[in-house]
Amino acid sequence: MHPELEALLALQEKDQAVTLTDEALAALAPATQALDESQAAAERALAAARAAIQAALDRRDELEGKIASYRTMQEQRRQRLEWVRGAKEASTLMAELDLARSVLAKEEAEFMRSGDAVTEAERRAAEAEQALAQLRAQQAAEREGLAGRREQIAGEREHAVAEREQAAARVTPAMLARYERIRRGKAPLALYSLHVDACGHCFTAVPTQRRTLIQRGVTIEACEACGVLLYAKE
Ligand SMILES: [Zn+2]
Repeated sequence: MHPELEALLALQEKDQAVTLTDEALAALAPATQALDESQAAAERALAAARAAIQAALDRRDELEGKIASYRTMQEQRRQRLEWVRGAKEASTLMAELDLARSVLAKEEAEFMRSGDAVTEAERRAAEAEQALAQLRAQQAAEREGLAGRREQIAGEREHAVAEREQAAARVTPAMLARYERIRRGKAPLALYSLHVDACGHCFTAVPTQRRTLIQRGVTIEACEACGVLLYAKE
């Protein structure tokens, strides 16, 4: 076996351990995202319910103002009626009073309904608030579990990285640079064993002469097709 090969294979093994912890961390992301999304939806529902209360209050205030000004106008008509002398003017005012009375009655009915709408909006907001609180309570255990799992994996990763650094220190700088360069490429790993007479990654045939060098451990050869480093399994 080539003297550097053992150190390289050990390094690759440690890198795979680091990758596993990265994958384990990434695997937790969808669960966290799902929790965040359902919480955000409940928060949006509550915000919408609170906005609906404000809209209902605004509507009620608007009607209240309208009714007050109608009443003032009615009062003015009544006062004018006391002072009019002509019968025609009096009957016009009477007709106006009648018409305004029925308009006012409609607005007052509308005002009552607007009060009910406020109560209903407040009830819905209270429901949305309760739903959010319930969701948060439901999620608490799951979030705690996820946080614990994340912490555990982070610890494992730290350990794996430390071991990886130790393994890297046992590889010569030139070979380490070569290894890192290959790792940045498309192949998942930098080292592959020969698969019969071919590269174990891309399965391109390796010429006999180079294969012999690899098998004798004379040099560490790269696959001519995909560039990974090749070794012979003992
Ligand atoms: Zn190859």
